[in-house]
Amino acid sequence: VLIRDVLARRASQGRPAVSFEFFPPKTPEGEQQFFKDVLPRLVQLGPDFCSVTYGAGGSTREKTLTLVERIQKTHRLPSMAHLTCVGSSVAQLREIIEQARRRGILNILALRGDPPRGETGFRPAPDGLTHAWQLVRLLREMGGFCIGVAGFPEGHPECREGKYADWDHLKAKIDAGADFVITQLFFDNADYWEFRDYLHRAGVRVPLIPGVLPILGFQQVDRLTRLCGARVPEKLRRRLEELAGDEEGSMAFGVEYATRQCEELLRGGAPGLHFYTLNRVHSTRQILENLGLARKDSP
Ligand code: FAD
Repeated sequence: VLIRDVLARRASQGRPAVSFEFFPPKTPEGEQQFFKDVLPRLVQLGPDFCSVTYGAGGSTREKTLTLVERIQKTHRLPSMAHLTCVGSSVAQLREIIEQARRRGILNILALRGDPPRGETGFRPAPDGLTHAWQLVRLLREMGGFCIGVAGFPEGHPECREGKYADWDHLKAKIDAGADFVITQLFFDNADYWEFRDYLHRAGVRVPLIPGVLPILGFQQVDRLTRLCGARVPEKLRRRLEELAGDEEGSMAFGVEYATRQCEELLRGGAPGLHFYTLNRVHSTRQILENLGLARKDSP
């Protein structure tokens, strides 16, 4: 099942598409727990699709494809493999993409990837690609894939010319053939509205799906936002600092915050919600229940 068809069906029903992002567990025990516990409980909520990340430096290439294949087989849930340009020549990317096709994986999130930790600038692999739009073009050329790309409501942190130039680069990815966009996490919906309106004015019509992080606590937000460059509004930072050390209180606050953020996004016409689950069940489930979007028969 191609995700663009899922999105079109939801749009015609006037309902948001709900999706979950997972990362490949690092150990065999983690993987066992993921398939026995985490995944079944999240699938019960009735998501429309899920996606599996691709480790930094291409480190989980095999695992990402294996996980996506297994999720599709065991749960019949449309699934998407993330793929980055890091560490692979074009010939190797072609080989990975053909392997994905052979395994029945036709939804790909086409990304550039980040430079290795400690390095600032992105350097392409020998005979590799420099930007995600080139990977979109390669996938289109090879044919048969549904392609997602990443978007940045605050602008990509590396883009020195600022966020509007970055959004123009995003439009180039869409013009190269991307079917939809999933955004980086953000905490202030004003950033998403400005991003969306800019792209609409530029003629973009593909779904721009907001990525939502269920906040677990101060340390998590601090670490993730340092990595991805997202801004934490002052009021939110202060509240998380006050709650630091109170795990339960922080989590409850995170559920509350995301619920309000999602309500506003849906009221404003967002086509879906993509949850960065971090392979955890509780917060995502609570948020969907609060929104009335959890499937009714889920326990
Ligand atoms: P690009 O679209 O190539 O953009 C990178 C930079 O280049 C931007 O600053 C852009 O403005 C600039 N640029 C683009 N085109 C041009 C041009 N023609 N001329 C000049 N500048 C240009 N990383 C992983 O390693 N694994 C994952 O699984 C993963 N999943 C992600 C999922 C989502 C939803 C998001 C939002 C990010 C994810 N990332 C992942 C992180 C991503 O790889 C990084 O954010 C990376 O730095 C940018 O990737 P991109 O695909 O947006 O790159």
